Amino acid sequence: MIPAAFDYLRPSTVEDAITALSEAGDDGKVLAGGQSLLPVLRLRLAAPALLVDLGGLPQLRGARNEGHELVIGAMTTHAEVAASPLVRQHAPLLAQAAASIGDRQVRHRGTLGGSLAHADPAGDLPAVAVALDAQLVVAGPSGRRTIPAGEFGVDFFTTALAADEVLVEVRVPHLHHWGAHYEKFHRTAQAWAIVGVAAAVRRENGSIAEARVALTNMGPKAVRATGVEQALTGADATAESIAAAAARAAEDTSPPSDLSGSADYRRHLATVLTARAVRAAAGI
Ligand SMILES: Cc1cc2nc3c(=O)[nH]c(=O)nc-3n(C[C@H](O)[C@H](O)[C@H](O)COP(=O)(O)OP(=O)(O)OC[C@H]3O[C@@H](n4cnc5c(N)ncnc54)[C@H](O)[C@@H]3O)c2cc1C
Repeated sequence: MIPAAFDYLRPSTVEDAITALSEAGDDGKVLAGGQSLLPVLRLRLAAPALLVDLGGLPQLRGARNEGHELVIGAMTTHAEVAASPLVRQHAPLLAQAAASIGDRQVRHRGTLGGSLAHADPAGDLPAVAVALDAQLVVAGPSGRRTIPAGEFGVDFFTTALAADEVLVEVRVPHLHHWGAHYEKFHRTAQAWAIVGVAAAVRRENGSIAEARVALTNMGPKAVRATGVEQALTGADATAESIAAAAARAAEDTSPPSDLSGSADYRRHLATVLTARAVRAAAGI
Protein backbone atom coordinates (compact mmCIF):
# COMPACT_ATOMS: atom_id res chain seq x y z
CA MET A 1 0.00 0.00 0.00
CA ILE A 2 1.05 3.60 -0.48
CA PRO A 3 1.37 5.60 2.76
CA ALA A 4 -1.08 8.40 3.52
CA ALA A 5 0.19 11.85 2.50
CA PHE A 6 2.59 13.55 4.92
CA ASP A 7 4.80 16.63 5.07
CA TYR A 8 8.54 16.00 5.15
CA LEU A 9 11.24 17.97 6.94
CA ARG A 10 14.98 17.33 7.00
CA PRO A 11 16.42 19.66 9.66
CA SER A 12 20.14 20.34 10.02
CA THR A 13 20.12 20.79 13.80
CA VAL A 14 18.66 18.73 16.63
CA GLU A 15 17.01 21.90 17.95
CA ASP A 16 15.11 22.40 14.67
CA ALA A 17 13.98 18.78 14.77
CA ILE A 18 12.64 19.24 18.31
CA THR A 19 10.87 22.49 17.40
CA ALA A 20 9.16 20.80 14.46
CA LEU A 21 8.12 17.83 16.61
CA SER A 22 6.82 20.14 19.36
CA GLU A 23 4.69 22.06 16.87
CA ALA A 24 3.34 18.87 15.31
CA GLY A 25 2.43 17.26 18.66
CA ASP A 26 1.08 13.73 18.16
CA ASP A 27 0.97 14.31 14.37
CA GLY A 28 4.77 14.31 14.06
CA LYS A 29 7.09 11.34 13.77
CA VAL A 30 10.86 10.98 13.64
CA LEU A 31 12.26 9.17 10.59
CA ALA A 32 15.65 7.46 11.04
CA GLY A 33 16.55 4.50 8.78
CA GLY A 34 12.90 3.91 7.91
CA GLN A 35 13.29 0.12 8.21
CA SER A 36 10.46 -0.17 10.73
CA LEU A 37 8.58 3.09 10.21
CA LEU A 38 8.08 2.81 6.45
CA PRO A 39 6.40 -0.61 6.65
CA VAL A 40 4.16 0.82 9.38
CA LEU A 41 3.22 3.75 7.11
CA ARG A 42 2.71 1.53 4.08
CA LEU A 43 0.37 -0.72 6.06
CA ARG A 44 -1.36 2.47 7.24
CA LEU A 45 -0.93 1.40 10.85
CA ALA A 46 0.12 5.03 11.41
CA ALA A 47 -0.51 8.17 9.39
CA PRO A 48 1.60 11.02 10.82
CA ALA A 49 1.07 14.43 9.21
CA LEU A 50 4.80 15.24 9.45
CA LEU A 51 7.96 13.17 9.16
CA VAL A 52 11.09 14.72 10.66
CA ASP A 53 14.03 13.02 8.96
CA LEU A 54 17.18 12.87 11.12
CA GLY A 55 19.25 11.88 8.09
CA GLY A 56 20.66 15.41 7.76
CA LEU A 57 22.25 15.32 11.22
CA PRO A 58 25.77 13.87 10.84
CA GLN A 59 26.41 14.98 14.44
CA LEU A 60 24.20 12.03 15.51
CA ARG A 61 26.38 9.52 13.69
CA GLY A 62 29.51 7.67 14.78
CA ALA A 63 31.21 6.46 17.97
CA ARG A 64 33.71 8.16 20.28
CA ASN A 65 35.18 7.59 23.73
CA GLU A 66 34.45 10.01 26.57
CA GLY A 67 36.28 9.04 29.76
CA HIS A 68 35.13 5.54 30.68
CA GLU A 69 32.16 5.61 28.32
CA LEU A 70 31.65 4.77 24.69
CA VAL A 71 29.25 7.29 23.14
CA ILE A 72 27.39 6.21 20.00
CA GLY A 73 25.19 8.58 18.01
CA ALA A 74 21.57 7.48 17.58
CA MET A 75 21.81 7.69 13.77
CA THR A 76 24.75 5.29 13.59
CA THR A 77 23.66 2.41 11.38
CA HIS A 78 23.79 -1.22 12.44
CA ALA A 79 26.53 -1.82 9.84
CA GLU A 80 28.59 1.06 11.28
CA VAL A 81 28.09 -0.21 14.84
CA ALA A 82 29.13 -3.72 13.82
CA ALA A 83 32.26 -2.50 12.00
CA SER A 84 33.36 0.26 14.40
CA PRO A 85 36.79 -0.54 15.96
CA LEU A 86 35.76 1.44 19.06
CA VAL A 87 32.51 -0.50 19.51
CA ARG A 88 34.28 -3.79 18.86
CA GLN A 89 36.87 -2.94 21.49
CA HIS A 90 34.67 -1.48 24.23
CA ALA A 91 31.24 -3.03 23.60
CA PRO A 92 31.78 -6.20 21.55
CA LEU A 93 28.36 -7.48 22.65
CA LEU A 94 26.73 -4.57 20.80
CA ALA A 95 28.88 -5.05 17.70
CA GLN A 96 28.05 -8.76 17.63
CA ALA A 97 24.30 -8.22 18.03
CA ALA A 98 24.22 -5.43 15.42
CA ALA A 99 25.93 -7.74 12.94
CA SER A 100 23.14 -10.30 13.46
CA ILE A 101 20.32 -7.93 12.49
CA GLY A 102 18.30 -8.65 9.34
CA ASP A 103 20.24 -8.53 6.09
CA ARG A 104 22.84 -6.19 4.59
CA GLN A 105 20.28 -3.69 3.32
CA VAL A 106 18.59 -3.47 6.72
CA ARG A 107 21.93 -3.09 8.49
CA HIS A 108 23.01 -0.31 6.14
CA ARG A 109 19.79 1.71 6.62
CA GLY A 110 18.58 0.82 10.13
CA THR A 111 20.01 2.72 13.08
CA LEU A 112 20.86 2.06 16.71
CA GLY A 113 18.52 4.84 17.85
CA GLY A 114 15.72 3.62 15.60
CA SER A 115 15.93 0.10 17.01
CA LEU A 116 15.81 1.32 20.60
CA ALA A 117 13.04 3.86 19.94
CA HIS A 118 10.93 1.37 17.99
CA ALA A 119 11.08 -1.02 20.98
CA ASP A 120 10.04 -4.12 19.07
CA PRO A 121 10.05 -6.97 21.65
CA ALA A 122 11.84 -9.14 19.05
CA GLY A 123 14.46 -6.45 18.32
CA ASP A 124 17.96 -7.46 19.38
CA LEU A 125 19.42 -4.19 20.61
CA PRO A 126 17.14 -3.30 23.56
CA ALA A 127 18.28 -6.40 25.50
CA VAL A 128 21.91 -5.63 24.65
CA ALA A 129 21.52 -2.04 25.89
CA VAL A 130 19.92 -3.36 29.09
CA ALA A 131 22.70 -5.92 29.68
CA LEU A 132 25.35 -3.24 29.12
CA ASP A 133 23.64 -0.82 31.54
CA ALA A 134 23.64 1.75 28.73
CA GLN A 135 22.38 5.28 29.32
CA LEU A 136 20.17 6.79 26.63
CA VAL A 137 20.43 10.54 26.11
CA VAL A 138 17.25 12.18 24.93
CA ALA A 139 16.83 15.80 23.75
CA GLY A 140 13.55 17.68 24.07
CA PRO A 141 12.15 21.22 24.32
CA SER A 142 13.44 21.63 27.89
CA GLY A 143 16.93 20.25 27.28
CA ARG A 144 18.53 16.85 27.60
CA ARG A 145 17.83 14.02 30.01
CA THR A 146 19.40 10.61 30.46
CA ILE A 147 17.35 7.45 30.77
CA PRO A 148 18.85 4.11 31.88
CA ALA A 149 18.28 1.46 29.20
CA GLY A 150 16.36 -0.63 31.72
CA GLU A 151 13.79 2.16 32.09
CA PHE A 152 13.65 3.23 28.44
CA GLY A 153 11.47 0.35 27.24
CA VAL A 154 8.08 0.67 28.88
CA ASP A 155 5.86 -1.81 27.05
CA PHE A 156 5.19 -3.42 23.67
CA PHE A 157 6.53 -0.87 21.08
CA THR A 158 6.43 1.83 23.77
CA THR A 159 9.31 3.77 25.33
CA ALA A 160 9.82 6.58 27.83
CA LEU A 161 10.32 9.01 24.90
CA ALA A 162 7.81 11.88 24.63
CA ALA A 163 6.41 12.78 21.18
CA ASP A 164 8.64 15.85 20.97
CA GLU A 165 11.85 14.14 22.11
CA VAL A 166 14.68 12.75 20.04
CA LEU A 167 17.05 10.00 21.17
CA VAL A 168 20.45 11.52 20.40
CA GLU A 169 23.06 9.17 21.79
CA VAL A 170 23.69 5.95 23.65
CA ARG A 171 26.38 5.90 26.33
CA VAL A 172 27.89 2.52 27.16
CA PRO A 173 30.24 2.14 30.16
CA HIS A 174 33.48 0.41 29.18
CA LEU A 175 33.51 -3.17 30.46
CA HIS A 176 37.13 -4.14 30.86
CA HIS A 177 37.97 -7.74 31.76
CA TRP A 178 34.42 -8.89 30.99
CA GLY A 179 33.45 -11.48 28.40
CA ALA A 180 30.21 -11.06 26.47
CA HIS A 181 28.06 -12.91 23.98
CA TYR A 182 24.71 -12.52 22.19
CA GLU A 183 22.94 -15.80 21.47
CA LYS A 184 20.09 -15.51 18.99
CA PHE A 185 17.77 -18.29 17.93
CA HIS A 186 15.93 -17.75 14.66
CA ARG A 187 14.43 -19.95 11.96
CA THR A 188 16.54 -18.58 9.11
CA ALA A 189 19.73 -16.51 9.04
CA GLN A 190 17.92 -13.23 8.42
CA ALA A 191 14.85 -13.76 10.57
CA TRP A 192 14.01 -12.00 13.81
CA ALA A 193 14.90 -13.65 17.11
CA ILE A 194 12.42 -16.18 18.45
CA VAL A 195 14.39 -15.65 21.66
CA GLY A 196 17.71 -13.86 22.18
CA VAL A 197 20.04 -13.68 25.18
CA ALA A 198 22.62 -10.97 25.87
CA ALA A 199 25.17 -12.03 28.47
CA ALA A 200 28.17 -10.31 30.02
CA VAL A 201 30.32 -12.02 32.63
CA ARG A 202 33.37 -11.08 34.71
CA ARG A 203 35.46 -13.99 35.98
CA GLU A 204 37.74 -13.90 38.99
CA ASN A 205 39.85 -16.78 40.35
CA GLY A 206 37.75 -19.52 38.77
CA SER A 207 34.42 -17.99 39.82
CA ILE A 208 31.92 -15.69 38.21
CA ALA A 209 32.30 -12.39 40.06
CA GLU A 210 29.59 -10.48 38.19
CA ALA A 211 27.02 -11.36 35.54
CA ARG A 212 24.46 -9.51 33.49
CA VAL A 213 21.87 -11.32 31.42
CA ALA A 214 19.02 -9.75 29.41
CA LEU A 215 16.41 -11.44 27.24
CA THR A 216 14.91 -10.62 23.83
CA ASN A 217 11.30 -11.57 23.00
CA MET A 218 10.49 -13.02 26.42
CA GLY A 219 7.85 -10.37 27.14
CA PRO A 220 6.60 -7.02 25.87
CA LYS A 221 10.02 -5.45 26.41
CA ALA A 222 13.61 -6.52 26.99
CA VAL A 223 13.99 -7.93 30.51
CA ARG A 224 16.86 -8.62 32.84
CA ALA A 225 17.10 -12.26 33.98
CA THR A 226 17.75 -11.31 37.58
CA GLY A 227 17.34 -14.85 38.95
CA VAL A 228 20.08 -16.06 36.61
CA GLU A 229 22.34 -13.14 37.55
CA GLN A 230 21.90 -13.87 41.26
CA ALA A 231 22.61 -17.57 40.79
CA LEU A 232 25.72 -16.85 38.73
CA THR A 233 27.26 -14.32 41.07
CA GLY A 234 29.91 -16.10 43.12
CA ALA A 235 29.26 -19.45 41.39
CA ASP A 236 32.06 -21.63 40.05
CA ALA A 237 32.80 -20.86 36.42
CA THR A 238 31.81 -24.35 35.29
CA ALA A 239 29.33 -25.64 32.75
CA GLU A 240 27.34 -27.31 35.56
CA SER A 241 26.94 -24.11 37.64
CA ILE A 242 26.03 -22.15 34.54
CA ALA A 243 23.39 -24.71 33.52
CA ALA A 244 21.89 -24.60 37.03
CA ALA A 245 21.72 -20.79 36.94
CA ALA A 246 20.35 -20.73 33.39
CA ALA A 247 17.45 -22.94 34.47
CA ARG A 248 16.03 -19.78 36.08
CA ALA A 249 16.02 -17.79 32.81
CA ALA A 250 12.25 -17.87 32.28
CA GLU A 251 11.40 -16.67 35.81
CA ASP A 252 9.12 -13.64 35.81
CA THR A 253 8.87 -13.55 32.00
CA SER A 254 5.73 -13.42 29.84
CA PRO A 255 6.77 -14.65 26.40
CA PRO A 256 4.32 -14.50 23.49
CA SER A 257 2.87 -17.45 21.60
CA ASP A 258 2.93 -16.98 17.84
CA LEU A 259 3.64 -18.81 14.59
CA SER A 260 7.34 -19.06 15.49
CA GLY A 261 6.75 -20.82 18.79
CA SER A 262 4.58 -21.19 21.87
CA ALA A 263 5.26 -19.45 25.16
CA ASP A 264 6.36 -22.80 26.65
CA TYR A 265 8.78 -23.35 23.78
CA ARG A 266 10.24 -19.89 24.36
CA ARG A 267 10.62 -20.58 28.10
CA HIS A 268 12.58 -23.71 27.27
CA LEU A 269 14.64 -21.86 24.65
CA ALA A 270 15.49 -19.12 27.15
CA THR A 271 17.12 -21.63 29.50
CA VAL A 272 19.09 -23.34 26.72
CA LEU A 273 20.22 -20.09 25.09
CA THR A 274 21.12 -18.49 28.41
CA ALA A 275 23.43 -21.40 29.23
CA ARG A 276 25.04 -21.07 25.79
CA ALA A 277 25.38 -17.29 26.02
CA VAL A 278 26.87 -17.34 29.52
CA ARG A 279 29.27 -20.18 28.69
CA ALA A 280 30.48 -18.28 25.63
CA ALA A 281 30.79 -15.04 27.64
CA ALA A 282 32.75 -16.86 30.34
CA GLY A 283 34.92 -18.64 27.79
CA ILE A 284 33.85 -22.13 28.90
C1 LIG B 1 13.49 -7.23 6.71
C2 LIG B 1 13.84 -6.68 8.07
C3 LIG B 1 14.48 -7.49 8.99
C4 LIG B 1 14.83 -7.01 10.24
N1 LIG B 1 15.44 -7.85 11.12
C5 LIG B 1 15.76 -7.40 12.35
C6 LIG B 1 16.43 -8.24 13.28
O1 LIG B 1 16.77 -9.39 13.03
N2 LIG B 1 16.73 -7.72 14.51
C7 LIG B 1 16.42 -6.43 14.84
O2 LIG B 1 16.70 -6.02 15.95
N3 LIG B 1 15.80 -5.61 13.98
C8 LIG B 1 15.47 -6.05 12.74
N4 LIG B 1 14.86 -5.21 11.85
C9 LIG B 1 14.54 -3.83 12.28
C10 LIG B 1 15.74 -2.91 12.10
O3 LIG B 1 16.65 -3.16 13.13
C11 LIG B 1 15.38 -1.41 12.13
O4 LIG B 1 16.55 -0.74 11.82
C12 LIG B 1 14.92 -0.84 13.44
O5 LIG B 1 13.84 -1.53 14.00
C13 LIG B 1 14.43 0.59 13.27
O6 LIG B 1 15.50 1.45 12.98
P1 LIG B 1 15.36 2.55 11.90
O7 LIG B 1 16.57 3.39 11.99
O8 LIG B 1 15.06 1.96 10.58
O9 LIG B 1 14.12 3.41 12.46
P2 LIG B 1 12.80 3.94 11.75
O10 LIG B 1 12.11 2.83 11.06
O11 LIG B 1 13.09 5.16 10.95
O12 LIG B 1 11.99 4.37 13.04
C14 LIG B 1 11.44 3.41 13.91
C15 LIG B 1 10.69 4.11 15.05
O13 LIG B 1 11.60 4.74 15.92
C16 LIG B 1 11.40 6.17 15.95
N5 LIG B 1 12.75 6.76 15.98
C17 LIG B 1 13.78 6.40 15.16
N6 LIG B 1 14.89 7.05 15.52
C18 LIG B 1 14.57 7.85 16.56
C19 LIG B 1 15.30 8.78 17.37
N7 LIG B 1 16.61 8.98 17.19
N8 LIG B 1 14.63 9.44 18.33
C20 LIG B 1 13.32 9.22 18.54
N9 LIG B 1 12.57 8.35 17.83
C21 LIG B 1 13.19 7.67 16.85
C22 LIG B 1 10.58 6.48 14.72
O14 LIG B 1 9.77 7.63 14.89
C23 LIG B 1 9.76 5.23 14.57
O15 LIG B 1 8.65 5.26 15.45
C24 LIG B 1 14.51 -5.66 10.58
C25 LIG B 1 13.87 -4.82 9.66
C26 LIG B 1 13.54 -5.31 8.41
C27 LIG B 1 12.87 -4.40 7.42
